[in-house]
Amino acid sequence: MDLTVVDPPVRHTAVPAPRAHWQRLLADAVRDPIELCRLVGIDPAAAGPTGGFPLLVPRGFVARMRHGDPQDPLLRQVLPAVAEGQPVPGFTADPLGEGQAVAAPGLVRKYQGRALLLLTGGCAVNCRYCFRREFPYADHGAAGFPGAALEVIAADPTLQEVILSGGDPLLVDDQRLATVVEALDAIPHLRRLRIHTRLPVVLPERVTDGLLAVLGATRLTGVLVLHANHAAELDDSVATAARRLAATGTLLLNQAVLLAGVNDRVATLAALSERLLAIGVLPYYLHLLDRVRGAAHFEVGEARARDLLRGLQESLSGYAVPRLVREVPGERSKLWIHPAPAPTVGAPGSPLTSG
Ligand code: SF4
Repeated sequence: MDLTVVDPPVRHTAVPAPRAHWQRLLADAVRDPIELCRLVGIDPAAAGPTGGFPLLVPRGFVARMRHGDPQDPLLRQVLPAVAEGQPVPGFTADPLGEGQAVAAPGLVRKYQGRALLLLTGGCAVNCRYCFRREFPYADHGAAGFPGAALEVIAADPTLQEVILSGGDPLLVDDQRLATVVEALDAIPHLRRLRIHTRLPVVLPERVTDGLLAVLGATRLTGVLVLHANHAAELDDSVATAARRLAATGTLLLNQAVLLAGVNDRVATLAALSERLLAIGVLPYYLHLLDRVRGAAHFEVGEARARDLLRGLQESLSGYAVPRLVREVPGERSKLWIHPAPAPTVGAPGSPLTSG
C-alpha cells in the first residue's frame, strides 16, 4: 500500500487546492484579526499581535458569535489577545513535554496501550490556548512518515488503540484518511481507533459521505472525541453532523478546556453538558489549561475548578459531569481532579448558617 499520499504533519494554515465543499469553506476562512473584528462588530483595537500563531477561523463559526460583544466566549477562543505577548513564569513552549515522547516521525507515545499518530499540523481553527501552538510539526515531516510510525505500531503488540491527532486529523481528506485507517485496520493487535477532532464543531461540512464511509468500513471500534467548550458552538449544523457520525456506530465523546472568560461558570458548563447530550455526545473530559506560552490569561486555578466541578455534580446527572483532569508530563495517565467538598452544615458560609 502506498502511504506516501499522507501529508507529513507540518503546521500550516493554508489548505491544498480546494476540491470538496468543506475544503473551499476552509480556504475562505478568516485569517485577518481586523477582518474578524469587523465581522463581529467590535473595535479592532481589541486584537493583539498573532505572534507565530496565526489567526484562523471558519466563517460558519464566526456566525455563531454574538455581534458587538468583545467578550463573546467563541470570539475569545480565537482572537489574539494583547495579553498573549506578555511572558508569564511557568508558561512554556512545550508544557506537556511531548518532545520527549516522540517514538518515530509523527508518532507520540505517552500512555500504556495507546499511541498518538499526528497526521497533520494543520487545523481548521487556531485556538489561542492550544498546548501544541508551538509544537515543532516541521520536525515530524521527515522522510519516513507515516511508514516508520506504522512499523512501530505494528511491531508492538501491547498497543490496542491508535489515536489520530494533529493538528486536526480530519483536515486530511477522505482518500488519505482511508489509506491510514486501512493500514491500521490490517494490524491485528489493534482494537480501537480514536480520532481527536474539532472539525465537526467548527466546520461541520467536513462530515462528508466519504468520511462516514471510512468510519463505517473499519473493523476497529471507533471513538470520536470532539472538542467544544461552550454550548453556543453547537448549533443545528453541528447537531446534524454529530447524528450522522453516530449513525456509523462511532462513540461520540467531548473534551473541553476550562477557560477563564469562556466557560468558567457552573451554569455555562452545565449548559454545555446539556447541549452535548441533546446532540448525542457524552461529556468526557474537562481539562485544566496546559500552561503553554501566551495562554496565561485563560487559566482557571485548581481550587476554583474544584468548586465548579462540585457545582456541576450538584446540578447534573452523573453521566453529564465530565472528568476534571490535568495532564502532567511524565505521569502514566492524566490526573483526575476531585470536586471541592460541600460546605459542612452549620459551618460559616453554609446555606444553613447564612440566614
Ligand atoms: S483544534 Fe485542537 S489542535 Fe487545533 S488549534 Fe485548536 S486545540 Fe489546538
